[in-house]
Amino acid sequence: HTPSPVISAVSAKSYACQRRTPLKHHNLFLTEPLELLAENAELGENEGRSVAFRRAAAILKTLPLAVKRMEDLQGLPCLGDHSLRVVKEILEYGSSQEVESTRHSEQFQAMKALTGIFGVGVKTADRWFREGLRCPADVAKSEQRLNSSQQAGLLHHEDLSQHVSRAEADAIGQIVERAVQEVLPGAHITLIGGFRRGKETGHDVDFLITHPEEGKEEGLMPKVVQWLETQDLLLYQKTTRNSYLESKEGPARPPNNMDRFERCFSIFKLERRASGEAHSSAQATEGEPGGGEGRAPGPEPLPQRRPAGWKAVRVDLVVSPFSQFGFALLGWTGSKLFERELRRWAGREKNMSLSSHALYDNSKGCYLRASTEEEIFSHLGLDYIPPCDRNA
Ligand code: ATP
Ligand code: MN
Ligand code: MN
Repeated sequence: HTPSPVISAVSAKSYACQRRTPLKHHNLFLTEPLELLAENAELGENEGRSVAFRRAAAILKTLPLAVKRMEDLQGLPCLGDHSLRVVKEILEYGSSQEVESTRHSEQFQAMKALTGIFGVGVKTADRWFREGLRCPADVAKSEQRLNSSQQAGLLHHEDLSQHVSRAEADAIGQIVERAVQEVLPGAHITLIGGFRRGKETGHDVDFLITHPEEGKEEGLMPKVVQWLETQDLLLYQKTTRNSYLESKEGPARPPNNMDRFERCFSIFKLERRASGEAHSSAQATEGEPGGGEGRAPGPEPLPQRRPAGWKAVRVDLVVSPFSQFGFALLGWTGSKLFERELRRWAGREKNMSLSSHALYDNSKGCYLRASTEEEIFSHLGLDYIPPCDRNA
């Protein structure tokens, strides 16, 4: 059996950032099970194993045809023994025992449900699991001490567990645009994350904010947040300054202005019409600062229950200085595996350090400037991959 020319072309490219990975592909019946094993490994804090499964899934997403038999995989990189075993079982029997027993295991389901609460990470979920908690309702009933993000996560859990639609993302975009223009005219906002990669739904909406005049963006986030709060558009927010210094990226030590990099993890209160269609709350409450009252006619909402006129939506905002915009855009567009692969490529193949702030050439001992994603790919010696093909 000779591998097809297409597969031979893919086989030379072992980094996901060298390949085009579209959103829709032909091997979901294999990638979904592999990604479930990856997720299970993440929930068990086994990062190496998780990345191995994700890389295996990613290579299958790039194939132009559905895999029919094991020979179709000859010469493909990124497929380890374990992944191959899973693929073989699915091709032969239609499903994998390991995958199905994981899918139905109490631990996997509980860990997924608990980490599905905004503000709850693997460590907390694991502790709760060992204390007998299995789902958000168990946490709500328990005496657990919750921090403010977890409280918000639990309170809005029902809404936050629903997907965010493209229409809702656009409505949030209009609100953010308005907020940003109010506090800093001339600032730009860009949709990033999964929606920029062409996804139809997301678990949140991500935006990058910058201003063409370097320095103008400084201190922008608190002003945007304050404006949103006076309009009653925020249910929760946590603004983080100086996120770069908390990261583990090491040698890509940025110039001094890096500590201006700000971000905000938030929960928006998005108005919706009775039709369920997303609608911008900023418009609905125009001229009514303070917002909440006098909105939808109808019966009083039940105490402690939110009125049905809005939906809680997770929103991430990032502010970047203009000089770092290209890096921030590339770093926040994802997918997470694509980002990881870019950094691995930079380090291992180019002796460079890439972050969402900068690209450092360790051999030359200098930063490589870039204002667009295209220039960064070019510095890295990679063909440009557009956002819609970064769905690794
Ligand atoms: P989804 O539709 O599930 O939201 P997504 O790809 O948008 O998918 P996010 O978790 O919103 O996923 O992340 C978007 C991008 O932001 C990712 O590429 C990730 O690398 C980056 N990112 C997310 N969280 C952080 C963080 N804490 N620090 C740095 N970058 C992050
Ligand atoms: Mn996202
Ligand atoms: Mn996000």
